[in-house]
Order: sequence, then C-alpha cells, then structure tokens
Amino acid sequence: MHCPKCGNKLVLKFCENEGLVPYCEVCEKFKFPPFSTAVSMVVVNKTQDKILIAKHTKNNDFLLFAGYIKKGESAEKTLVREIKEETGLNAVKYKYMSSKYHEPRNVLMLNFIVVVSDGEIVFNEDEISEIKWCGFDEALQTVSRDSTAEFFLQNAIAELKKNKI
Ligand SMILES: [Zn+2]
Repeated sequence: MHCPKCGNKLVLKFCENEGLVPYCEVCEKFKFPPFSTAVSMVVVNKTQDKILIAKHTKNNDFLLFAGYIKKGESAEKTLVREIKEETGLNAVKYKYMSSKYHEPRNVLMLNFIVVVSDGEIVFNEDEISEIKWCGFDEALQTVSRDSTAEFFLQNAIAELKKNKI
C-alpha cells in the first residue's frame, strides 16, 4: 500500500488504541485504509408484510436495494434518494438496523428497513430486469446463502415479526 498523498510506500506502525496502522514516513502521518460506505435497504410496503426485491441485469441475482453514500451526504439522505431513483417510490419511514463490512467491494454497508408509499413502481430496465413484492419467506429464499443480503434480511425480518417500525 502506498501513501495516497505522496506515493511513498507505507509501513505498519503502532498507533495508540488502534494497534498496527499503515504509516507514511515522508508525511509522518497515519494513513487509515480507505473504504466506501453504502446504504443497504430492506424495502417494505405500508403494512410491513411484503418486501420489495429486484433482479439486476448484470448478475441475474435478486438483491436488496443499495447505493453508495456520496461525499458530504448523510445515510438518511442517500436512502431517500436511492429509493426514488431506483423505484420511483417515496420513503415514508426508516429504521437503522445494523452494519456489515462487505469485502468484495471494500464497502461498509449500513442497513435500514425502509417503508415506502403505495404507488406505481418505475424502474430503469438497463439496471433491473425484474422487480417484485414478496412475503418474508420468499424474500429469504431469493437471496444467496451466507451473503450480506441474507444477513440483513434475517435481521430485518426478525424485527418486523416482533413489531412494526
Ligand atoms: Zn505520504
């Protein structure tokens, strides 16, 4: 790994309360490894008994809705923007659930349950090939085993079965 500022090779150095952290001997600064942050959304209808899932054109998998948080944006603003962009629906309520680091994309995912308004779903056919409302069990069956999506879905469904958000 190299310093993003000067290009010098980083060394590992002990940082109090943090352990070994990449360090630039030219800049004399610790360089914490960069990663992206994104929101992941379990989108539910108003009565909170159906989950909206989408099949993406690129990998043909059913996935939860997700989007990168833009620099300067809050996670809450991102989720409202992403839901509108991807489905045409309005987020009316949301609740933060949990986070998980997703190694393949070097991204920290923040998962929310998002309640959306009723309405016609409008989606981009270049990105999404199919979109559907399904019950809790069906939603769980559509996502890949041991995936980050499955982890978030299990948490969200356990919460929704206890009480509405
Ligand atoms: Zn440097």
